[in-house]
Amino acid sequence: MHKIERQALSAAPTAGQTMIFMIMALLVLAVVIVWISDVHTVLHLKARTQNAGDAAALAAARWQGITLNLIGDLNILQALALSRGDAAAADQIKNVQARLCFVGPLVGLLASQQAAKNNRAYVNPDYTANLAAHADLVQSYYAVDAIRFPEPYDNAWREYSGMLFTIAEQGLAAGPDNTWYYTDSINNHWLLSRNFYEAVASLDWCWFYWNDAAILQSYTDYQYWPDLPSAPPEPNTYNSEVFGLGLRPFTTVLPGGAGTVAHMNVLRSERGLRPDSPETISNEVAGITNTWYGYVWTSWSALAPANDFPILPLQVKPEYDYTGADTVIRVEAQPDSRMPTTFPALQPFLSRSSPGAAAHLTQSSAISGAVTWTAAGKAFGYLATDGGPVRPDAYVVVLPAFHDVRLIPVDTATGSNLGAYDLVWRRHIQDHLTTYEQSGQAGLDADCWYCQQLQTWEDPAFRQQGIDWLIDNSNACYRVRGGGGPGGGTRRGH
Ligand SMILES: [Zn+2]
Repeated sequence: MHKIERQALSAAPTAGQTMIFMIMALLVLAVVIVWISDVHTVLHLKARTQNAGDAAALAAARWQGITLNLIGDLNILQALALSRGDAAAADQIKNVQARLCFVGPLVGLLASQQAAKNNRAYVNPDYTANLAAHADLVQSYYAVDAIRFPEPYDNAWREYSGMLFTIAEQGLAAGPDNTWYYTDSINNHWLLSRNFYEAVASLDWCWFYWNDAAILQSYTDYQYWPDLPSAPPEPNTYNSEVFGLGLRPFTTVLPGGAGTVAHMNVLRSERGLRPDSPETISNEVAGITNTWYGYVWTSWSALAPANDFPILPLQVKPEYDYTGADTVIRVEAQPDSRMPTTFPALQPFLSRSSPGAAAHLTQSSAISGAVTWTAAGKAFGYLATDGGPVRPDAYVVVLPAFHDVRLIPVDTATGSNLGAYDLVWRRHIQDHLTTYEQSGQAGLDADCWYCQQLQTWEDPAFRQQGIDWLIDNSNACYRVRGGGGPGGGTRRGH
């Protein structure tokens, strides 16, 4: 008995210790389980957001391709009309082409919403409000500024605005991120570069060393900045702002002459364009002055030497070496309420950009804890000639050539640095910078992350810190290639 009692007594503290240990282990386990389920939630949400974004980008790009083919078919029908001397019919066809430049991309926008929703992306109230507000603004293109924003066809702005409203009414789940408003300025100013704000936020003095070594010394106050660049005086209003096709009507003799006529005749029979008469396009059409819809596209290889363009020219076959019509989609999703929005260990999971592009965390998503995915899509195709495949724009005039769509790296797409549906950024550059330019720090918005960085920047002690650091450490600044950081900002203007 004594022995047992003594054993029990001596075991008591051990049992207590075990109990405490087990409670602690359970607590740790509980934290881990909660954490893992959060990771799971984020990864699941990320996969869903990614699927929705990719599907939306491809859907819109497919409609860009379909529309380009239709506009190409109509160029061929114009040539047939001119062959029988029917200039009036050719004129009517030109009018339909002008309309297609808007209707086609907006059908693409509608299709992209459906694709995103099919992949369980939810309607984003901010995106929807943004599109509705823009639809409202488009009406003023005509009312206020018909000279600056000429209508490509009669009643175009009212029709375009109405289509935008109709889409907004359905609710926007996927933001058309490479939307290029006619009023958008040419992006060439540090205040319009996300990299500047990133450098301030992360005390990245090397960024200043490489990009503007003098500014730390010479900056005085907000009046130091050059004026913000204004909008281009004559925007290309032939294209929809959303998913524009990069086209323009050319009033000229047929570019490419008899070669184009020959190719048009091949495509005419392939595409089943067979009006009763004439059977073929006459060679005389090559000499008639007419308005043709043609491309204003550039080459990927032409962009490559500048600013670390992420596709090397050698990797692109010549027949696919064109930038022009493409789509960029932004999808944001909110994780559920258990999600620790400021948990640093989770941040790498929260925001990735599309295949091929460097992973990055956008500021707006870092603030809100949202999962953001951007994806880019593009219609591809080529014209088959006796000498082999050539680019779709080889004859300048649009011909039906598109038969495929692919995802492309976001950084190779048009407008990728602007991020039209990164609404935090857009509000900053549109509203806050305007008031900042007028009244300095008083014009900043305390809730805006970018304004907060400007506030930091305005402090002379902050800039002195950078000057001091660079005196001792500038030899430690290595130029980092590629990526461009959140939203880039170094490569622009195509
Ligand atoms: Zn701001």
